[in-house]
Amino acid sequence: MNCPACKAMMSVGVTDLVFRRERSVIVIENVPALVCVQCGESSVESKIAQIAFDMAQKEIAKGVSLEFCNFKVA
Ligand SMILES: [Zn+2]
Repeated sequence: MNCPACKAMMSVGVTDLVFRRERSVIVIENVPALVCVQCGESSVESKIAQIAFDMAQKEIAKGVSLEFCNFKVA
């Protein structure tokens, strides 16, 4: 896969996803992604993004304001 922004090669790596809702900010770290070697643009598979989203929803439900979570597949 090539970068949607600059068309350079993308390699397997990790990225952080940030979810916000009202006053809650949840950062999911170490999410598997394709990362552009040139500009750093990242692309996360939809099923991976869904898992990260579900993790964030659980944290938001606890009422935290800022939380950093390590990505893991349940
Ligand atoms: Zn790029």
